Amino acid sequence: MSLISNNLQVVRADLAAAAQKAGRDPQQICLLAVSKTFPAAAVVEAAQVGQRSFGENYLQEALDKMLAVRTLLPENILEWHFIGPIQSNKTRQIAENFSWVHSVDREKIAQRLSEQRPAALPPLNICLQVNISREASKSGVSPDETVALAKRIVNFKGLRLRGLMAVPAVSDDPVEQRNAFRQLRELQQQIQQQIEEQGITLDTLSMGMSADMTAAISEGSTIVRIGSAIFGKRNYD
Ligand SMILES: *Cc1c(COP(=O)(O)O)cnc(C)c1O
Repeated sequence: MSLISNNLQVVRADLAAAAQKAGRDPQQICLLAVSKTFPAAAVVEAAQVGQRSFGENYLQEALDKMLAVRTLLPENILEWHFIGPIQSNKTRQIAENFSWVHSVDREKIAQRLSEQRPAALPPLNICLQVNISREASKSGVSPDETVALAKRIVNFKGLRLRGLMAVPAVSDDPVEQRNAFRQLRELQQQIQQQIEEQGITLDTLSMGMSADMTAAISEGSTIVRIGSAIFGKRNYD
């Protein structure tokens, strides 16, 4: 068995165990395979053992990979998620080529993605990225500004606001890990209360990576973004 398919089995088992521990249905948690820096062949290998959702951080790398993968797999079986920082001159290609964007952190980017989403495609699923640990170096909207941003963009026609995403400060303490994820969940609840009357339900918390997946699942994660535990150590980031 290949290393990637073996790793995927381990990650799926860990995900299921974490869900069970939290009293949750593992089917309600999407495993997003973060394939950044790994070649199309790695994506194909994962796809051959049933992986369907892939996350990418760098637009050009992602577009090249999508093209290469398209010739090797049946058409359109994969779902691509953009999870990296977004420059405003890149929004059109993101709107045209992805199903999800997890890293929206300002109104201007949301507006461009909405306007540039092709009418033939369903609305682009988006999460607002929140700088939940308030780190100076991190992207993401500040927790204090998240509710207001959500309310401004929730009716953009080309978008469907699904929830929040965060990359908390690194910690190897499960209690600290859970604190950050809990804050994201509570922020999501605040937004939900404010948009409830519009009939909109936020159903996504994109949180948890290779090192903190279990803590994220305990706090209600619905998408875990897993790179190195599936594909191995990255040489660059
Ligand atoms: C790289 C990356 C991941 C995956 O990280 P691992 O630690 O390799 O699992 C998840 N989310 C984002 C936003 C990333 O940039």
